[in-house]
Amino acid sequence: MSQENCIFCKIIAGESKSETVYEDDVCVAFKDLHPQAPTHILVVPREHIESLDKAKNKHLETLGYLHLVAAEIARENEFAEAGYRTVINTNGNGGQTVFHLHVHLLGGRPFVFPPG
Ligand code: 5GP
Ligand code: ZN
Repeated sequence: MSQENCIFCKIIAGESKSETVYEDDVCVAFKDLHPQAPTHILVVPREHIESLDKAKNKHLETLGYLHLVAAEIARENEFAEAGYRTVINTNGNGGQTVFHLHVHLLGGRPFVFPPG
């Protein structure tokens, strides 16, 4: 279910380079190219879902799973207790730039709320 010209589909297919930190049948997690925190990982479903706006009921389990994977990565990298931020940017005003749904996992520094 990959989409032509989608950079994340290319990374998942191994056609484009990334620093993978975790992968399984449902998702791949890799380091963000332009990290906004000491740790900045993207948790990306293998299925090409354009955005949260395009997610359907059939994606319910996947959406929850991506967050549990992010939480596990935070624990394994020992910044869970200190705290971290998970973010899904959606469409233009949400700041989405890659239209393949993903959860940002940011850690290693404090974050303010609301974000900019
Ligand atoms: P969005 O703005 O859609 O929420 O997040 C897209 C993220 O993907 C950005 O933080 C951006 O730095 C990252 N990104 C864009 N292209 C690539 C790439 O080719 N490789 C990796 N590892 N990250 C990318
Ligand atoms: Zn894609």
